[in-house]
Amino acid sequence: VTPVAPGGTLGIVGGGQLGRMIALAAARYGLKTHVYCPDPDSPAFEVAGRHTRRGYDDEAALIAFADTADVVTYEFENVPRRTAEILAARKPLRPGVLALATTQDRFEEKRFVAGLGIATAPFRAVGGEADLEQALGEIGRPAVLKTRRFGYDGKGQVMIRPETSAADAWRTLRGASCILEGFVPFEAEVSVVAARTAAGEFAAFDLCANTHSHHILDATRVPAGVSAQAEREAVAIAALIAEALDYVGVLAVEMFLVRKEGAEHVVVNEIAPRVHNSGHWTIEGADTSQFEQHVRAVCGWPLGSPQRLGRIEMRNLIGHDADAWREILARPGDHLHLYGKAEARPGRKMGHVTRVFPEA
Ligand code: AMP
Repeated sequence: VTPVAPGGTLGIVGGGQLGRMIALAAARYGLKTHVYCPDPDSPAFEVAGRHTRRGYDDEAALIAFADTADVVTYEFENVPRRTAEILAARKPLRPGVLALATTQDRFEEKRFVAGLGIATAPFRAVGGEADLEQALGEIGRPAVLKTRRFGYDGKGQVMIRPETSAADAWRTLRGASCILEGFVPFEAEVSVVAARTAAGEFAAFDLCANTHSHHILDATRVPAGVSAQAEREAVAIAALIAEALDYVGVLAVEMFLVRKEGAEHVVVNEIAPRVHNSGHWTIEGADTSQFEQHVRAVCGWPLGSPQRLGRIEMRNLIGHDADAWREILARPGDHLHLYGKAEARPGRKMGHVTRVFPEA
């Protein structure tokens, strides 16, 4: 693989805050960026030298975009497969089509992970109400019914409790293809953010402990406070997944921490084929940020050190949380990030704040 030299252009599909922070990291390394996104007010447009505002089905625009780039990456997993194939036919697309196709369908993703011998919740594909009744009979309750595609931040999922009627649950998701998962009685939610290069080099950041509010990530703490054995298990799982997907770039694997016969273990919930919210702390809190790491990997460069620089607390600024920017600025040690989104709608990720404490 010929590395992209500084001065080259990184194409980024998707214009949200993740694309914005990838573009900022690329600029730091002397790379140009070109962002492709149909949405008018894309946070990444503001910080990229070039952007294209066209649909993901606009083949001519996609080809013109790819022609300006040396390598193309994406910042969200719902890039249509056809879009990815058009781009991959013109320029190296990293991560590749396999990683994207596997992770954008929750059923394919779970089947892939379980096929590697990694623990997941029990799961069944569900295509109708009768399927759901049968799957509930096999898996039991409580269970979680999720749409196979396009779910995020708890959208497209419904908890099935002992008293929930299967018909109601099915109607809630409006007939989309679904997956039913057994409910995992977890002690904590953790994630591994890691990078892999085309040459197979792999580097993981320390395990992140994540807490959610209304299904949206609220805070990340590192160290995660789990046993060294569970952390090793989590990182080994992420490495195995990255290898099996022939993955190039940063990925995140979200897991549940469970206790089995007194010992902590992890159960994989989902894979994000991209940089991840739980890795934002690495901007100030690690030798190399997840965004720099991603740029390095997709450009064919060696990975940087993932060494953590202290004890970490990262908090998301959701909706009107971001109105407190003056107070945050006044607190020594608070690193404020705002994504430049005009309107603070409830549930919208507006920014985040990271603190790095000296480790005792
Ligand atoms: P997801 O969209 O799959 O990340 O799910 C969003 C959140 O729902 C997770 O962070 C968990 O808190 C919860 N959740 C999802 N699936 C399960 C499961 N099988 N068992 C227990 N909790 C779950």
